[in-house]
Amino acid sequence: MKMPCPTADELTRLLDGDVAEHRAVTLREHANSCPACQAELHRGQRLLTRIATPLADSRPADMEGVMRRLGSRPPLAPPSARPRWKIAAATLSALAASLCVLTLVPKQVETDFQPRG
Ligand SMILES: [Zn+2]
Repeated sequence: MKMPCPTADELTRLLDGDVAEHRAVTLREHANSCPACQAELHRGQRLLTRIATPLADSRPADMEGVMRRLGSRPPLAPPSARPRWKIAAATLSALAASLCVLTLVPKQVETDFQPRG
């Protein structure tokens, strides 16, 4: 006597361990003799395995890409290793720029000023 195929939902519950033990035995016996149910169970088990280890497949490739990008960038020199003349030149040019702004401010601004007091 051959039992009818269980539903996909019941096979999923079997994989989840959500079926009474005597029913689980019956379902496993059926799956052993039924290629369709056996394939369905194997597919469910593969899916469960993939869900249980989602990062195992993707992490190594991602990490290699990040490390490769980090390795291709030239390292930044620490501040003490930068030449001091560059810092002095940057400071002087900033000072010159601010002096230009101060000397080029229109005189009109001063005439418009009216004390409130
Ligand atoms: Zn079957």
